[in-house]
Amino acid sequence: MGALAVSESLCSCGNIIVLKSNQLDFPWLLHAFSTRQGGVSQGSYASLNLGLSTGDDAERVQCNRDRLARALGFTWEQAARGEQVHGNRVAVVTAPGAVFPSTDALVTNRVGLPLLVFFADCVPIMLVDPVLRVIATVHAGWRGTLRRVVLEALGVMRSCFGVEARHCLVHLGPSIGPCCYAVGEEVAELFASWKGEVLLRDQGSWHLDLKEANRQLLLAAGVPKENITLSSYCTSCHSKLFYSHRRDGYQTGRMAGAIMLK
Ligand SMILES: [Zn+2]
Repeated sequence: MGALAVSESLCSCGNIIVLKSNQLDFPWLLHAFSTRQGGVSQGSYASLNLGLSTGDDAERVQCNRDRLARALGFTWEQAARGEQVHGNRVAVVTAPGAVFPSTDALVTNRVGLPLLVFFADCVPIMLVDPVLRVIATVHAGWRGTLRRVVLEALGVMRSCFGVEARHCLVHLGPSIGPCCYAVGEEVAELFASWKGEVLLRDQGSWHLDLKEANRQLLLAAGVPKENITLSSYCTSCHSKLFYSHRRDGYQTGRMAGAIMLK
């Protein structure tokens, strides 16, 4: 992938550990990606599982959600989220606590309104226009990436708030890396015509680089190269820090990214 800017920090935050993008370190902005450390879930869900969809105990998940929100400085009930379906629908959030069906991207310019994105292997993406102070979260697996969900979010930031791509800062958070993400011929074929090193050949199988694919989309849409930063973490390689559906199967947890204008 060449010499890309990799700029992120692991931070202790209360009793949990989160990952932050150095590029998004503004006094008027809160943002963090959770890791699996510092929660109360057990067994294969240990310990800070934030997802209810994979069979973990609901009370423990709620405790974890409250713990993350408190550590970051909001309440879980304040946070908006989409019921993610690997699609490309974008919601503009205007009220706290809103839940949007079939939605993988959220946009707002409201202060004090946290946006969440859940992830395990898919790429959690945060977009910020520091000039107009508009923020977005995006959930992009291979299906969402093919459906250009990150550009749908950018489009809504432009049409609703006048955001220009050239002013946007984008951070692509921790996700499964090409090292661990072998895909079948039929998925590889869908990305065959994409620019950049999106597909890699390793020991007879194709490996997909989801972060690079989304970076290519953003570059083509006019986001400057120096404004796009990528997490260096692969969720599958780093089992102490992250859950990975690909590595662990169904009975695993979910992390979340949170972003809020202060
Ligand atoms: Zn890996």
